[in-house]
Amino acid sequence: MKKYPPIIPQMPHMLHGGDYNPDQWRAMKDTIWKEDMRLAKLAGCNAMSIGIFSWVALEPEEGRYDFSWMDEVMDMLAENGMVAVLATPSGARPAWMSQKYPEVLRVQENRVRNLHGGRHNHCLTSPVYREKVTAINTALAQRYKDHPALGMWHVSNEYGGECHCPLCQERFRAYLQKKYGTLDALNQAYWSAFWSKTYTDWSQLESPSSHGERSMHALVLDWKRFTTEQFVDFMNCETAPLRAITPDKKITTNLMGTYPGINYFRLGDAMDVASWDCYPLWRNNMDDALVASRHGFLHDLCRGIKDGRPYMMMESSPSATNWQPVCKLRRPGGHKLYSLQAIAHGSDTVQYFQFRKSRGSFEKFHGAVVDHEGSENTRVFREVASVGEALKKLDDVRGTIVPADVAVVYDWENRWAIDESKGMLQENNYEETVVSHYRAFWKRGIACDIIDETKDLSRYKVVVAPMLYMLRAGIAEKVEAFVKAGGTFVASYMTGYVDDTDLCFLGGFPGPLKETLGIWCEEIDALYPDERNALTYQGKRYEVRDLCEIVHLRGAESLGSYEEDFYAGMPAVTVNHYGAGKAYFIAARTEQAFLDDFYRAIEAESALTPVLDCELPEGCSATRRTDGETDTIFVMNFSPIGRMLDIGEGGTDLETGKELSGIIELPARGVRIFARKK
Ligand SMILES: [Zn+2]
Repeated sequence: MKKYPPIIPQMPHMLHGGDYNPDQWRAMKDTIWKEDMRLAKLAGCNAMSIGIFSWVALEPEEGRYDFSWMDEVMDMLAENGMVAVLATPSGARPAWMSQKYPEVLRVQENRVRNLHGGRHNHCLTSPVYREKVTAINTALAQRYKDHPALGMWHVSNEYGGECHCPLCQERFRAYLQKKYGTLDALNQAYWSAFWSKTYTDWSQLESPSSHGERSMHALVLDWKRFTTEQFVDFMNCETAPLRAITPDKKITTNLMGTYPGINYFRLGDAMDVASWDCYPLWRNNMDDALVASRHGFLHDLCRGIKDGRPYMMMESSPSATNWQPVCKLRRPGGHKLYSLQAIAHGSDTVQYFQFRKSRGSFEKFHGAVVDHEGSENTRVFREVASVGEALKKLDDVRGTIVPADVAVVYDWENRWAIDESKGMLQENNYEETVVSHYRAFWKRGIACDIIDETKDLSRYKVVVAPMLYMLRAGIAEKVEAFVKAGGTFVASYMTGYVDDTDLCFLGGFPGPLKETLGIWCEEIDALYPDERNALTYQGKRYEVRDLCEIVHLRGAESLGSYEEDFYAGMPAVTVNHYGAGKAYFIAARTEQAFLDDFYRAIEAESALTPVLDCELPEGCSATRRTDGETDTIFVMNFSPIGRMLDIGEGGTDLETGKELSGIIELPARGVRIFARKK
């Protein structure tokens, strides 16, 4: 089994650090910068992300670069044994540029061009903006290509949004022309005879807008696909000079969980390492089990962007997060647990937004390693330093993988189609549904990969694909081959409704999966929020809500049936023995207890192995990383009360160096990490 090389090879430890904005403090640099270095070392930081919003400091007027301050910062980092995760500054641009070249500013879907301001406010097509980005990225790479502090590249920041300017419209039309070839093909795919929408000239095509065309679902889907391609293309434009000048430096851009505007699995093609910004809403009560499992899913999703390679938690707050509705403090011990949760799921870094708290403007109350108070004598600083200490003991964990026999499908294009669909419920809750299926495995300590429809299934024992409403070409055949070869596939209501241009499959749902699943779904009933039905499965009654699909058996057998309404007695859970495998179908949205019990049965028959051979108490999770010879086990307690759990043969506690086995106590928000030879 392989172990990946460190993300930044010159660093001997896991990366620890964060967004550092020394350009905000240039007027006080003689005291502040020096103090920053002392405090960073004290906190065990070794990697600082710099230059993320520094464009005006680097290019104060067009074509005149000033690298003097960044030279000093880079030297200072090198002298103190740290590396720079060096950013390209395209996330926000100088006012002189917007003033001189208004085309760089974004146009909203109402076709009104933005004023200068904010961030992420640039056109992705604008030749001027691309030229300016290429120039400064080239200058940065040339300047620092041989600098010992250059660790890797952090391209832009949290790519997002979209631009509807005339340049982007032209590009969108070209994209559609290339995709469909003829207007006839596009009109067929868009079902455009509906409401007299047939296009008679390519120039009539416009991006979707809420005060124009928004009701044609295939157009919206293509716009979202196009926007993703725009980001891929823009990122490739940004990275071209970096790859040419510093070919050995890795490149990432920081993602935002399940941000709906970009298909991250596609954007992943443009980067070497995936990274994301992690901002959970901890409640400090038993609900934290829900928060923790949701963030387990998001961490696993980030790991999936580069097919299981170690990723980076590029941002997290060591304390409050200033843009959340309630800016809760992290409870004592919480910071270490939440940081190590990232490592437990395959991150090789713990990084923060931000190292030193801004003195003014939008983020002055966002949590930071160094507070306005300015010293190491704060609770938050001590918590950060404890993470720094813990990470130094995990050198051997770097590059190891999280092996998984289960894949849970989360697919951006499918999400777009469900979000746009008009029918069933106005909010069909795809993401929360996928997370609820994932949660059943998280509670058991069974690792999952998160993949999209396009990924290889053959390496998994079990593939879970809730609400796979859109089946793009070739997907159903792939699922069929997986099941025939002995795999276990689990599908749910709202599966196999439309193809990749949102045309309904004829001949009954779940479309091309009918034979594999051995069923035909005739109708789907939507329930009011306070309505409930129920199903009986293995002698137990479970509540169902929201959506109940009415299913006929066509080769499958029923494992459970509805209790009430005109479809009482009809199948609600089915299995089809198909080839050497099994294809299950869950016809209704159930309470979590059903999913927990259902997947417990799948676990037994598919010989899935939990990380620990015990029942995990509520709010606890366990994960495993391995290099094939040594397993590192993480046990975590996200609940606000102490928990006892049995770790069996255990191993060597990586924090204390002592042997650990049998029943151990995990305090509230406690975490233990132990290693053992396989
Ligand atoms: Zn544009």
